[in-house]
Amino acid sequence: MALEASKRIKTKFGEVVHLEDFTLESDEGKQFNVKSSSNVFVNRKLLPIKIWSDQYEFERHIRKIIGKEVEDEKVNGNIHYCDVLIVGGGPAGLTAGLYCARAKRRTILLEGQSLGGQIRTTHRIENYPGFVEGSAVKLIENMERQATDFGLKIDIFKKVYRIDLGPPFKRVYAADDIYECNAVILACGLKRNELGLERESAFGGKGVSYCGVCDANLFKGKQVAVVGGGDSAMEDAIYLSRFAAHVFVVHIFDELQANKSLQDVALQNQKITFLWKHKVEEINGNSALSRITLRDLTSGSRKEFNLEGLFIAIGACPHNDFYKDKLSVDDQGYVLVNSEMETSVPGVFAAGDMRVTPLRQVSTAVGDGAIAAISAEKYLAKLESE
Ligand SMILES: Cc1cc2nc3c(=O)[nH]c(=O)nc-3n(C[C@H](O)[C@H](O)[C@H](O)COP(=O)(O)OP(=O)(O)OC[C@H]3O[C@@H](n4cnc5c(N)ncnc54)[C@H](O)[C@@H]3O)c2cc1C
Repeated sequence: MALEASKRIKTKFGEVVHLEDFTLESDEGKQFNVKSSSNVFVNRKLLPIKIWSDQYEFERHIRKIIGKEVEDEKVNGNIHYCDVLIVGGGPAGLTAGLYCARAKRRTILLEGQSLGGQIRTTHRIENYPGFVEGSAVKLIENMERQATDFGLKIDIFKKVYRIDLGPPFKRVYAADDIYECNAVILACGLKRNELGLERESAFGGKGVSYCGVCDANLFKGKQVAVVGGGDSAMEDAIYLSRFAAHVFVVHIFDELQANKSLQDVALQNQKITFLWKHKVEEINGNSALSRITLRDLTSGSRKEFNLEGLFIAIGACPHNDFYKDKLSVDDQGYVLVNSEMETSVPGVFAAGDMRVTPLRQVSTAVGDGAIAAISAEKYLAKLESE
């Protein structure tokens, strides 16, 4: 039995609650969060309550007794309460969920689609340390099982469309439901831009890729093309040139938009050839990509081009519709965080591909998720001790 002589907590509505002889009843009590106290004072006033089973019910009860009840918004669905609410079920969100749940924080993760994030769209993952099986599906299944075993609650197909960042508490809106919490971890990732061609998604993982660092190793000795002229296109082309037999860069303009030093390295690389003012119009093949059709934007002519890999690097967009006006973001909409993954709003953390970061990979996303969770835990502990 854990016994503390007294404990002061601050509810999310600001009342200072003083508990005397605060105790966790028993192991069973711990499990179900049943607590009691011989005396409960709110703002120095003794209250006629001794036991409660749930912190949120307890805080609501206190509000009722002291006549400060906050009107609940009218909702069609339910209001859920938790310590930490995570948005996004990719590697960053699942890792944050694992850490928060393991720290015994009531944690809910909302995912707008099915779990897994971007790696759902790839078959193999070869560069996540220690995971030699290579199946991206398996990796996600393992992450999910490990996190839910520790108590993470996951709601899939729950797309968040609004977030209110308090104080005193934070509210996250998804479908008809509202999630009320003290800390939010955003791990919403990004969407890589597509060309919008007819068979593009059918060839995803079968020759068409959106990530040079991820897939270059699969194209050793093969002929590949990179579409785009910005920083990520040049980084992909340079990286791919170490693996592929030859790299063609297909760009709709007659000059690059990448930074000058990347341009210099790419333009001097003997294994990279630039197809200026060209556009990919078709992608073809049987079971895998084998050729593309290019249009020469100067002459208007079309020509077929044989290759086995097409890397599309025409930008990406973080999923930021619901938070971009509430947090500091850079000029491309990526969230700015410090080394603790804290955003510009206290109690809101961001992790993974959606933040400003030099590398967007599974290994960096899980690292961010772990840091965000530990920072959220410190934030909650501080709230409770104030
Ligand atoms: C084709 C491809 C292959 C890749 N291969 C590799 C590889 O081999 N190795 C490697 O290390 N990396 C690879 N990557 C990169 C890697 O997938 C990402 O770096 C990683 O998934 C980022 O994780 P994340 O959790 O930050 O974001 P994401 O994986 O993007 O996950 C974010 C999740 O948030 C959800 N979400 C977004 N908005 C909302 C909302 N409003 N409400 C609820 N949910 C929301 C999304 O549906 C998504 O599931 C690859 C990427 C792609 C596209």
